[in-house]
Amino acid sequence: MKMQLSEIARALEIQDVPDAWNDIEVNNVHFDSRKLLPGSLFVPLKGERDGHTFIKNAVDAGAVATLWSKDQAELPDGIPALVVDDPLQALQTLAHYYLDKINPKVVAITGSNGKTTTKDMTAAILASQFNVVKTEANFNNEIGVPMTILGMNSNTEILVVELGMDRPGQLDFLSKIVQPDTAVITMIGEAHIEFFKTRDRIADAKMEITHGLKEDGVFIYNGDEPLLTERAKEVEADQFTFGMQSSNQLYASNIEGNDVETSFSINLDADKRFEIPMIGQYNVTNALAAIAVSQNYHIKLDDAVKALKHFDLTKNRTEWLDGRKGERILSDVYNSNPTAVKLVLASLAKTETKGRRIAVLGDMLELGEQAQSMHEGLKDSLDPNEIEEVFLVGQEMNNLYKALDGKYDESHLHYYQASELNHLSSDLENLITADDIVLLKASHGIHLETVVNELTKN
Ligand code: ATP
Ligand code: MG
Repeated sequence: MKMQLSEIARALEIQDVPDAWNDIEVNNVHFDSRKLLPGSLFVPLKGERDGHTFIKNAVDAGAVATLWSKDQAELPDGIPALVVDDPLQALQTLAHYYLDKINPKVVAITGSNGKTTTKDMTAAILASQFNVVKTEANFNNEIGVPMTILGMNSNTEILVVELGMDRPGQLDFLSKIVQPDTAVITMIGEAHIEFFKTRDRIADAKMEITHGLKEDGVFIYNGDEPLLTERAKEVEADQFTFGMQSSNQLYASNIEGNDVETSFSINLDADKRFEIPMIGQYNVTNALAAIAVSQNYHIKLDDAVKALKHFDLTKNRTEWLDGRKGERILSDVYNSNPTAVKLVLASLAKTETKGRRIAVLGDMLELGEQAQSMHEGLKDSLDPNEIEEVFLVGQEMNNLYKALDGKYDESHLHYYQASELNHLSSDLENLITADDIVLLKASHGIHLETVVNELTKN
């Protein structure tokens, strides 16, 4: 971005701006003094520590101005300060102003899972025709969304933003900041069910993404989910559905996959074959969402095919790694929930191998009262003929361990406390041979990445 400080002050309705500020050019905004680039506006936020205490670091890093909370006793030294009621709110107001000024088309994406993947796929396809700015990494909340907006420049034509949600009202707020032309819901799962209690309530909260939708906007959603089709009837905007079922306006068929990529056809043109560099049918769903968005912006299907083939995933959370013994490791240790585990176990069961398929599963956190039944419910996705060895980690996984008693012989079913990761690593090391495939999946709180590090270190 590029704005004069005087323009920023006007956007924030700060009166009596000194003339000297007309000459101060701001070309970036950051709240973290360690990541701040010279020429930036510093935004002191209250996190674990109060950002105001880092003002000297921000000045040293090259900040040319700062927002400043009116609660502070003194103004900072050596840097122009815009005094505001609340710097976070001011950041959001500024983003809203800047969005109006650049006026790109806005694609907003939410859903229990698949937001980041769909965001990256969508941006990749749209980039074949447009200047696109997308959410970096996972910056999808009240801070990340304004930062994404302020990351645009005057040439940006389409903004693709991921909107996260962990409580009612959050998407209402974020959707009204970004005012999407296209609002997407990838799917409804069980993430945050501890808080929401039912999938119905999760669906209600996700639907808030339509609250800021422009009048001539389009609502694109997963039509395989009855909770969404039901609620979509209340939405006045144009609609478009995608999914696996042929009742959707866009659906996939002939899905085939190996252990690195997945291919599929779509109903819109039976001659086109799509290929994505990822495993799992759920990623086909994500790709369908992205293709649906791109159709809204009149991208040719050939361009979508090309873009999806080599798209740039922010951070591939399901990644293939080479283990020390030559085994292949499928690592997915940052996020876990019942839907995702079932889907990835289905993918694992289908991988080709001369060796064994080994599943290492850690607790799925934040499931609240349903934690026990949801952990037990994974039982149906594990078959000793397909997935020969099962390692379970954490308190909740003890429920699955008990549920699998009888289905798995005890010599192939192993249980560990979350504090026993070292023990788990060495037992895995002893068991694994070069031909095996090892899946590791858990919520991040279990820290299975330490086991992945052990299995892959040189
Ligand atoms: P977060 O809430 O952490 O931002 P996200 O919604 O952005 O997550 P991704 O980062 O795209 O989701 O994917 C995270 C994990 O969710 C994947 O590794 C996979 O296990 C699972 N997943 C992705 N897409 C889907 C989908 N469409 N349906 C079910 N599970 C999915
Ligand atoms: Mg994400």
